Amino acid sequence: MKKKEENAVMESILSLAKRRGFIFQGSEIYGGLAGTWDYGPHGVALKNNIKNIWWKRFVLSRDDMYGMDAAILMNQNAWVASGHVGGFSDPLVECDKCKRRFRADHLEDKAKCPECGGKLGAERQFNMMFKTYVGAMEDDSSVSYLRPETAQGMFVNFKNILDTFHPKLPFGMAQIGKAFRNEISPRDFIFRTREFEQMEIEYFVDPKEWEGTFDHFVSQIHAFTDDIGLPKESVHEHEIAPGDLAHYSKRTIDFEFDYPMGRKELYGLAYRTDFDLKAHTRVSGVDLSYFDEEAKVRFVPHVIEPSFGVDRTVLAVLSSAYREDELGGEKRVYLALSPSVAPVKVAVFPLLKNKEALTSKARELYKVLRQEFGSVEYDEAGSIGKRYRRQDEIGTPFCVTVDFETIEKDGNPVTVRDRDTGAQEKIELKDLTSYLSQKLGR
Ligand code: ATP
Repeated sequence: MKKKEENAVMESILSLAKRRGFIFQGSEIYGGLAGTWDYGPHGVALKNNIKNIWWKRFVLSRDDMYGMDAAILMNQNAWVASGHVGGFSDPLVECDKCKRRFRADHLEDKAKCPECGGKLGAERQFNMMFKTYVGAMEDDSSVSYLRPETAQGMFVNFKNILDTFHPKLPFGMAQIGKAFRNEISPRDFIFRTREFEQMEIEYFVDPKEWEGTFDHFVSQIHAFTDDIGLPKESVHEHEIAPGDLAHYSKRTIDFEFDYPMGRKELYGLAYRTDFDLKAHTRVSGVDLSYFDEEAKVRFVPHVIEPSFGVDRTVLAVLSSAYREDELGGEKRVYLALSPSVAPVKVAVFPLLKNKEALTSKARELYKVLRQEFGSVEYDEAGSIGKRYRRQDEIGTPFCVTVDFETIEKDGNPVTVRDRDTGAQEKIELKDLTSYLSQKLGR
């Protein structure tokens, strides 16, 4: 895609996200706060669906995974051990003229300011952790950081899981939660933000078995992107060349996605060896080894880490579902969301607002469907066409209309309309739940 088209697609998604209550600019009435976004009702529903599908696949449906929800603030020594205090930085350059700051590795010309053409200064390292103080004293001993990743909250609880659940290797810990990075230049909507959410797994293995586990998670990551309806052809594996690997990693694959602004990292999968557990043992003085009862040997397990960004997933889902077409001679915008992630599964309308017989029947049906499908909307405002368009824009797979036939005819047929094709079908009321269940893939 050309730059102009890319921007136009992104603009359309941003404007739809705002118009339909998915995502708003953070602190908007105060002029915003760069790198922050607020999720509205449909956005939080979409995000929760994604997180629940992830939790179901990686935690609930497995016997070898332990869920966690660790604190965001951690003892500063945890970040010394992890290497974040010493090395979690990006290269920063500042323009001598306009004083704007840029991430040097994102610039094509490292000498010239991309905004004003001024001269860029020397590159220096900028630590991306948000620093804060815990308690009333503001001194070195009270320093803490908003976590830049959820991973460390799991490593520091490794021994707690061993001592309380006595798991045998291989096993994993999984967590969903907020992470914070003071990105030099947040950009591309919710792709690169300063506050975001991650879904991470630390999977502990005998070092002899790391390769099989790594392959297993490659296929699990693809299975998850299928679960949430991302097109297979838009998800790519990018093997990081040995020379470019982080110092703790022996193998990393970046899973990239074809976003409107180009192919960019969606998820990461890394073989982190025993780097983390050894580092925490060294700094905390607490032994984080594992005793293999069968082989009677003690060793430090190795780690495979699949790391998923929630917000990058939301952007991938929204941008791959965004469609503009023509239906019944009118232009329309819709989201071809998989029913698994759609914020609203079914909408119920009475044909007319001012006919009590229709509205009461529709409300009754709405209550029944809400019990069955959870997220169902009732709408009686405006013409039927307008109501369809509203649901199309939030990606509701099916709309059900109660009309005069529903209250007068045998079998009480309702009209079910398909979002993608606009096709309408008459379904008898007694068959409606099973019809929708089947269509929604439940
Ligand atoms: P990038 O190179 O794009 O900065 P990264 O390699 O630093 O990303 P990781 O440290 O591997 O990212 O973080 C794991 C995942 O967390 C990423 O794959 C991404 O989905 C998500 N993530 C990281 N940084 C951000 C951010 N600033 N905004 C939104 N999501 C992020």
